[in-house]
Amino acid sequence: MASPRRIHAKTTRTGFAPPGHDHAHCVDDALAAAERQCAAKGAKLTEQRRRVLALIWNSHEPVGAYTLLDRLRDEGVRAQPPTVYRALDFLVENGLIHRIESLNAYVGCAAPAQRHVGQFLICTGCHSAAELDDASIGAAIAQRAKEIGFAVSRATVEIAGLCPNCRAR
Ligand SMILES: [Zn+2]
Ligand SMILES: [Zn+2]
Ligand SMILES: [Zn+2]
Repeated sequence: MASPRRIHAKTTRTGFAPPGHDHAHCVDDALAAAERQCAAKGAKLTEQRRRVLALIWNSHEPVGAYTLLDRLRDEGVRAQPPTVYRALDFLVENGLIHRIESLNAYVGCAAPAQRHVGQFLICTGCHSAAELDDASIGAAIAQRAKEIGFAVSRATVEIAGLCPNCRAR
């Protein structure tokens, strides 16, 4: 795994956001956390990168690169795919977003300050994703891989199912 010093005991997210919650608040918090994170690491959150991050935070639903391109074009921004991919790489590298492999999509991280392995519950009903971010899961993967002599380069845990909001329907 990329960084062994990220072990932290507490779960940083409470799960799926309830419908009708104040999402503007989520966006404000996420952008503020991103600014802090970049300032702390000396990384430059350019206008373009910030714009892409804000578009990803449009909802809690993971979003693909081409949807992002469409949204940028809707806003009148002429962006080419490589530009968007570079912005996405920057955001992933700095822990501001996670890539959901099974969906080929990206989702914002609410706790970028602490590096962690992406562990996601992905709802097949509403397509939203919530981070589990349980340190014991990451530790168990690291431990078992080590016992087997396997060098982990990337680890994302993705679990499909139905979120509480969809189950209530
Ligand atoms: Zn929200
Ligand atoms: Zn995260
Ligand atoms: Zn759902």
